[in-house]
This record gives sequence, C-alpha cells and structure tokens, in this order.
Amino acid sequence: MSERALLLTHDGLATLVEELAAAGTPAVAPAWAGDAGRAAGASAAARETEYRTVSGAAELAFGERLPRLSLKQFFLPPTEVLFSWRRVGGGVELIPPPTDFAAQVVLGARPCDAAALPIVDKVMNWDYADELWNARRAATTVFSLACGVEDDSCFCSAVFLEPAAARGSDGRLTPVDGGYLVETFSDKGEAFVAAHRESFTDLPAGAGGEVLAVQAESFRATARERVAGNLAVDHGRLRDWLDHHFDDPFWAGLGPRCNGCGVCASVCPTCHCFDIVDEPESVGRGVRRRNWDTCQTCVFTLHASGHNPRQDQNARFRQRVEHKFLVYPLKFGDVLCTGCGRCSRACPTGQDLAEILADIDARAAIDAGAGAVGDEGAADEAAS
Ligand code: SF4
Ligand code: SF4
Repeated sequence: MSERALLLTHDGLATLVEELAAAGTPAVAPAWAGDAGRAAGASAAARETEYRTVSGAAELAFGERLPRLSLKQFFLPPTEVLFSWRRVGGGVELIPPPTDFAAQVVLGARPCDAAALPIVDKVMNWDYADELWNARRAATTVFSLACGVEDDSCFCSAVFLEPAAARGSDGRLTPVDGGYLVETFSDKGEAFVAAHRESFTDLPAGAGGEVLAVQAESFRATARERVAGNLAVDHGRLRDWLDHHFDDPFWAGLGPRCNGCGVCASVCPTCHCFDIVDEPESVGRGVRRRNWDTCQTCVFTLHASGHNPRQDQNARFRQRVEHKFLVYPLKFGDVLCTGCGRCSRACPTGQDLAEILADIDARAAIDAGAGAVGDEGAADEAAS
C-alpha cells in the first residue's frame, strides 16, 4: 500500500506512544510483564513480556520474548457479557452490551499474532456475525513488528506465513539502525500514519535510505531462513492422513502425555472456543456471559446424561490437531494455527506441536508412498 517506506526512529516511537496516551487512544504493545524483566542482566526466565496498553516508551519490550498471551484477548476477552437481562413487569428486558468501541492501535504485534485475526474472522462471521469481535476488529489498527524468530518452537513458515508476514497487519515495522522501517498495507494503516505523520520521518534520500531498506530485507531474510529449518510439512498429505486415521493407535501415544489443563488453548492466538453461562446478579436481573473454553478439558463435551463423546484425552488431543489442520482448512481454507509455538512452550507436560506435526507428516509420507489408506470420515467426526 505505501508508495514508499518511512522511518520511525526510537525517539519518534516514544513521541508516538506518549501522544497516543495523552489523546486517550489505547496503544497496545509488547511490554515488560514486570520490573524484573527490564533490569539489565535479568535472566531469560525473568524477561517475560505481555501485550498491554502502554503510556511510555520505557514500558516497551520490542524485539524481546514473545508475549505470554496472544492478541486474542483484545478481541475476544477471557470473559465478557453478551447481554444483561432484568425482569420488567411480567416480561424480561434484554440489554445488549455496547459495541461502539473507541479506536485503539496495536504497535509491535508479532506477525503470527496479527495473522491469527483474519483467520479467526472466518469462524466469527460464519453462520452468525459476532458483533463484539467485529466491532473490536473494526476499531483496531494493527502494526506488526518483523520477528527475529523466538526459538525452535516457532514454525510460521510451515503454516503459510513467515516471520515478517503482512497478513492481518495494517502496517509493519522492521528493525533498522536507529529505529524501524515502516510500511503500510491498508487504508487503516495509511490513515494512522497520516494522523501521526510528525512522529514518522522520510527515509534519508539516496544511499542512506537504500542502506536502511537493505538492512530491513536482510533482517527479514535471516529470520525466514532460521524458521524454515524448524518445520516443513506437506499440508495436502497431512490432511489426508488425518482424514483417514481417526482411530489410529498414534493418538493413544499422545493422550497420556496431556493432562487436559487447557493452557495450550488459552495462549493460542487462534483457539476461539467459549462457554456460555447465565449469572444471576440479584433478584430479577442477571447477565449472560461467555468465557474462554477449550476442547482439551474433560467437561467440554460432557453431556448432562454423563455420556462424553470424547471419552479420553486421546480423543481430546486428536480433536485439537484435527480441528486445526483438517476441519478448519476444509471448511474455511485456512489452517487454524500460525505457528507461534506458544502451546509447546507453555505445555506443562511437554507436548510439542511441531514435533507432532513432523511425526504425522512422516507417517503421511510413508502412507502416500505405499498408497495406503485407513478408516474414513475423520473430518466429519472432528467437526462435531
Ligand atoms: S497445555 Fe499440554 S497438557 Fe495442557 S491441555 Fe494442552 S497439550 Fe494437554
Ligand atoms: S496451535 Fe500452538 S503454534 Fe499454532 S497458533 Fe496455537 S499456540 Fe501457536
């Protein structure tokens, strides 16, 4: 979209963040999760970051560790009211929640988190348009920060993305000497830059600007090369294997390694399931609320009768893999995963999704070579 890139110097970024705070425009960015992280010499474990609204540059943790939760929380909060109700006379009045959200901007989103947004848009506008999700999406401008690749758990390039993917971003920052090269990809991104033009500077004319452009491309190319070594799968044969191996003994090897805690879904930028509960607040009034939920817990599919169609953790973990890599791609044309690796890093029992996908892909390659197929209909069962 941008005809030519701009520069956001470190000072320009500081000014921008302060201006946004002064104007009351929430600026969400990767920030230090605590004081310990930003201290010089802090251990890697202490250098935790999180996405939150910032008001000054000292809070920013650009280029540091992946924030522990994704951006999902700003579009689908862990808990939110769908409507309130109160008894009026002989009837009930339903009061919808406000959907006129104020404009906000995300500065420095990981590309794998930004890319999750248009992927989840599809289910949020499938047979019902989710007004709360859509209104927050409309109110938010997202600038991603080209990623230097976190660690061996990252595999964005194995799911049709890359460390500087533009998908889901209105603009992108790429680290260069003195700050960030800025590109815009949408009208929203253009409008944001135009509204805050004094924080951005033109690239130096001539060789100076070319050097910065080369630096930016070199940063992106190094990251691409690094992540490509983590995982590569053939999605066609992977889907085929999943579709024909619903009852494969492979799943029995994974279930016992999963304790059903659901952390993987909470940290995941694309997991979007929620439970709906009615909460009385006082006599004659209450709210209907939705809360993040996950197919990994034993109660997720438990029927009131006591029957549970996903009777053990083998079935629940299979559901996680099949929904992301078989059902969602068949239904919406997108893999329900951006390869951020959070689920593997956060799992208390060491389930490693990249390893699991590599294992399935290797089995699929053998089957494809042998021309073998097993049972039928996994896509239908996993969709239920
Ligand atoms: S985080 Fe690990 S143990 Fe917990 S539900 Fe997910 S895979 Fe299972
Ligand atoms: S499934 Fe794991 S790697 Fe994929 S987007 Fe979710 S948390 Fe990231």
